[in-house]
Amino acid sequence: MSTRNYLWRRVFSLLLLIIITVNAPVGASSAVAAESTAEVFETETLKIINHFDYYTDSISPLTDKTMSKSEITEAIAPYGKYLGTPGMPIYAYRDAMEQKWEDVTERNKKFTDVEMDLEKRYTYNSLVNIMKKLSRIDGVNLYKIGKSTENRDMYAIEVDIPSDAEKDTIILTGTIHARETAGCTYILKELVDLLQDNSAKARKTLSRTRFVAVPCVNPDGREGVCYNPETYSYKKGELWKATTSGTDINRNFPGLSWSQLKKGYDKSDYLSTSPDKLYYPGPFAGSAPETRAMMKFLYHYVVIEKAAMYIDYHQQGRIMYTEKPWCSSEQRKLSKDAADHFKEFLNNGQKKSSKNKYTAVKEDKEYGLNGVGSTMTDYACSIANGSKYSRAYGFNVYVTKTNEYPLIMIPRLDDTRKKLVEAPNPTLITFTFEIGWGKDSLGYSAKARSLIADEYTTFHYDKALFEMSEYVHGLRG
Ligand SMILES: [Zn+2]
Repeated sequence: MSTRNYLWRRVFSLLLLIIITVNAPVGASSAVAAESTAEVFETETLKIINHFDYYTDSISPLTDKTMSKSEITEAIAPYGKYLGTPGMPIYAYRDAMEQKWEDVTERNKKFTDVEMDLEKRYTYNSLVNIMKKLSRIDGVNLYKIGKSTENRDMYAIEVDIPSDAEKDTIILTGTIHARETAGCTYILKELVDLLQDNSAKARKTLSRTRFVAVPCVNPDGREGVCYNPETYSYKKGELWKATTSGTDINRNFPGLSWSQLKKGYDKSDYLSTSPDKLYYPGPFAGSAPETRAMMKFLYHYVVIEKAAMYIDYHQQGRIMYTEKPWCSSEQRKLSKDAADHFKEFLNNGQKKSSKNKYTAVKEDKEYGLNGVGSTMTDYACSIANGSKYSRAYGFNVYVTKTNEYPLIMIPRLDDTRKKLVEAPNPTLITFTFEIGWGKDSLGYSAKARSLIADEYTTFHYDKALFEMSEYVHGLRG
């Protein structure tokens, strides 16, 4: 925990104490006082979530300095045609940052063993029930963090087992893409097994690492693909990635290149304008309620809590995407080293000659200029570097004392770094796991589940949380 967070928490605890003391009627018995203490119980996280002004903190203080469309068009002409698409409306941004979190931790229920079998079929509700059962363990908190397009509750689970050690925070997210069901089940299985492991190694991991996860970012899409795959296919054999309304959440974040460029930097345009096709980014940035819930979640853990590492679990060809163009060279170096380390870790025991091993792939080198960098990890990186939402642009921008710079105006962050507002999390590591090999492992057929269950142990996901904890702890020296 950083000093700043520690101070925040101290201030909130003190304020609560004062409120409780002031509200207690004269001569109130200690029993009554104890009861009112119980009523206002807030987890450490909720003490911040319920009182901190995320909206004001995350918005640019400048409002009227917009570059003209022609100025931007001219500046980025070498890279592509500027489309000037409308950004995220302020009401939607406010909605994102004012998401209420509800504590649904089952504190007073008895813990019973929880099992997770990757070959079994789980509905979203049964996965939620697994999280609820885990939340009966002391230090495991469960929050509703928002609603999906079809009004399902979205959940974040926080594993923060009481300990005296200073903890590193690791963020895990999964299944933002409907057909990539392994992210959600892997993250849950990893947590289920770690939390019930009594070994010294497991205790050490839990004592020095806080894991926070949204295992299933796209519950509607997942349910659609799992239980109605005929309906949720783009064409035969091509399962859905989007929400059930067609928006690819991982193209919907308000990075400035959300649908901003046509024929971007050495790439053909691949964002679609139709919800029934792959890569439809939504009618406007931040249009999907899932995006908004994740924006607050990420702002909290990346900017306020200063997480050490963020891994987004996807499913496509045993690749790890790293070195985000949205990051500083320091973050890119840290992320590359981490991705290389975890590549070796996952591939351990594989034949040298095997073609089906994990590979780490560098993302485009020009910052944001391919016109599509609106993924969840791109957004996390941009806020880690101090980008703020601009009312004028409707996108996140970098801010100096006098100007707002749309992200597409900054091809290399390092060149401008010195002039910008301070980066709140300059050492954030981000990369993605792309689990599985081939189309057969996508979706939720018996065959897909069997392939994914094999992959889990063959590529050591059963030991991945230990390794993550060890790795980020080692970085602190
Ligand atoms: Zn994906």
